[in-house]
Order: sequence, then C-alpha cells, then structure tokens
Amino acid sequence: METDSIRSQFPILDQKVYGKPLVYFDNAATTQKPQSVIDTLCRYYQTLNSNIHRGAHYLAGEATEEYEQTRRAVQQFINARHSHEIVFTRGTTESINLVAASFGQRFLNEGDEVVVSAMEHHSNIVPWQLACERQGARLQVIPFDDEGVLDLEALRGLLNEKTRIVAVNHVSNTLGTVNPIRQIVDIAHSHGIPVLVDGAQAISHFAVDVQELGCDFYCFSGHKMYGPMGVGVMYGREELLEQMPPYQGGGEMIKDVTFERTTYNELPFKFEAGTPAVGDVLGLHSAIRFMQQTGVDNIARHEKELTDYATERLLQIEDLRIYGRAKEKTSVISFLVGNAHPYDVGTLLDKLGIAVRTGHHCTQPIMDRYGIPGTVRASFAVYNTREEVDTLISAIERIAPMLA
Ligand code: PMP
Repeated sequence: METDSIRSQFPILDQKVYGKPLVYFDNAATTQKPQSVIDTLCRYYQTLNSNIHRGAHYLAGEATEEYEQTRRAVQQFINARHSHEIVFTRGTTESINLVAASFGQRFLNEGDEVVVSAMEHHSNIVPWQLACERQGARLQVIPFDDEGVLDLEALRGLLNEKTRIVAVNHVSNTLGTVNPIRQIVDIAHSHGIPVLVDGAQAISHFAVDVQELGCDFYCFSGHKMYGPMGVGVMYGREELLEQMPPYQGGGEMIKDVTFERTTYNELPFKFEAGTPAVGDVLGLHSAIRFMQQTGVDNIARHEKELTDYATERLLQIEDLRIYGRAKEKTSVISFLVGNAHPYDVGTLLDKLGIAVRTGHHCTQPIMDRYGIPGTVRASFAVYNTREEVDTLISAIERIAPMLA
C-alpha cells in the first residue's frame, strides 16, 4: 500500500498548524475525509438535493435511489442478511439510544438486568441507565483486568434469567482492546440473551461481518470511517426489529395516521422518522467505496504495523506508561508520562503541530478503574506514517523534561 497516494486523497492533511506540518493523531475522535467524500457532498447539493421517498419528480427519485443504494452498500459492507436491517441514524450515539429506548420499552421490565462492560464509552452506558430508570431495571457491569481485557468468567457469572441484553463495544476507544464478540455472543445466546455491539471504533479498522459475529445489533458512525458527520448506522436483526416499537414518531415512519390510531411503516422506515441527512448518507457510500478501494485488509495491516512501531518506541521513553496492553488491539494508544498532567502534554504537543486527545475520552469508569484523571491518546488511521510517529516520539522526549 502506497501511503503517499492515500494521503494525497485527504486535502486537510496537507497543511501547517503553528508553522509545523500537521500530524493528525485524533482519528478515534473522527477521521479525516477523502476528496471523494467531499465531492459527493458537493455533488449532492449541486445537482441532487431533494427530499426522498415522497416527491413524484426526477430529483426526488434520483436522491431516493442513491439513498437506498447506500443502504444496500452498508448491508454488503457488514454482511447483513437484509437491507431493511440497516437503519440510518445520526451516529453511534443515536443508534444505541434508539435500541435502548425501543428494545427497553418492549423487553425491559421491573427487576430485569442489562449487562454492559466497564470499558464502555458513555454512549453505551447512559442510554441503558435511562432505559433502566424508565423500566425499573438494573445495570450490571463486566470488569476488565489491568491489561484491559474483559473478564468473560465474570460475564458468565452475571447472566441469569433476569438478563435481557448484553451491550459491549467491539473496540475500546480508550484502551484499543478488540473484544472477543463471537465468544461474548455465544455466552449470551446460550442463555437466549441478545447482544448489542458498539462498533464505533471497529468499523474503520478491520472487516466486520455481523452474521459471523452473530450479534443482534451493531452500531457505528460514518464520521469515524472517513465519512461525513451526521450519519450513522443501526443494524438490527429483523426478528427483533419487527417486535420493537418506533423510536421517534413523525413523517415517513407511518402507514396510516388518524387521531384515533396510527399504524407504522415497515422496516427500516419504521425507525427513520423525518427527513434524514441524505447528502451525508450518500457521503457514507463514498467512504465505504474509499475503504473498499484501499482494501480493508490493507488498512488493518498498515495500522497494525504503525501501532506496533509506536508502542515499541513509546515504551522506550522513560517513565511512559501505556494503558491498554491487550494482545488483540487496534490503533489506539493511551499513555501518561511521569507525573505530567495529560492536558499539559496534549497542549504542548498541539503547539508542535501534533493533534492528540487528552482527558477521559468519555470513558470515566476506565479512568476510575486505573485511578487516573485521564490519558493522552494517539490514534492512527490509514493515512498516518512512521515519520509522523517519529515526530510524536521526538516531541514527547522534548516536552517530558519540561513537565517533570
Ligand atoms: N462508542 C465509542 C466506542 C466511541 O468511540 C464513540 C465516539 N467517541 C461513540 C460511541 C459515540 O460516537 P458518536 O459521537 O459518533 O455518536
């Protein structure tokens, strides 16, 4: 894989900040967009903009066709059985809120339990807390060890006849751990319990096959996989989606409305109330094309090499500690140097042109588990290079003594 030809597709990378070449290592927060995605957004508003599914005119027909083509592209990308199992949302957060609210309303009752893990993003904790509060259910938590590996024995111990769903991330946005979803699904399904997977940090890094994983729900965001902000996906198994009530009411999700009674549209439209972000959905299609043309396996290989290299070099720095040392790991490295506050490290790196994230990364329970206020997080994408890692290492070596 030729990194130069990939980088040249991302215009934002070719710039200086504070007079220094930009090194973008905040990809877990959002990835940059290739020109093809930007062009799709422009083309949509220049030539195609129209509200979908309703208008009896040319533009509405074309926009609807491309919107539905994207649904089929997503279906193929994650190998879902049916295209109507793909629901467009605003992002992972909305996807999980949709499931927590709708599944919760249908299946959660007083005294029931929902299992999440201790390494979840707040987006896969709070919606379940809200659902539990509404239904009188309780949250149970799978712990993880010092290396950042989930305790599957503890998961086995937590499941019982009151457990209604297990919700875990595929990849931790703070630790980088790739969780053994197939195994978790097997454990949960042996008790007849469905599994929701937060795939926000997995989808851009390796191939995802929802049938092979066996999960019941899979949620992700377009903006973390080279696509636009404002669009995400909730994949759900047909049998469950059919039984779940609508999440929001409004246009498009209905069959018939009278003041006495409303009947709902079929899948997936039952879950897509109102005007969707059509341009962003088409942009997501371009992002999928970008990933397929680059090769998902090539992306995975490149990022693994970069992560291994960065890990090795970072660990050579005196008193640098990495949080998240699981064997199965993607391109996220959380660390602390000496007793420097992560915010100070991040601010100084920024002045050197290096964009990292600092803080709790919306995973406060992980910080509590380690007894730290936060970390510095460098996260890589397909366009990052070894030279950029070298720049990061030199920068840390330069600033660490200043912060000691
Ligand atoms: N889950 C995980 C693991 C994430 O990393 C993120 C984004 N940081 C989210 C959920 C939420 O994604 P979004 O903000 O795109 O809804």
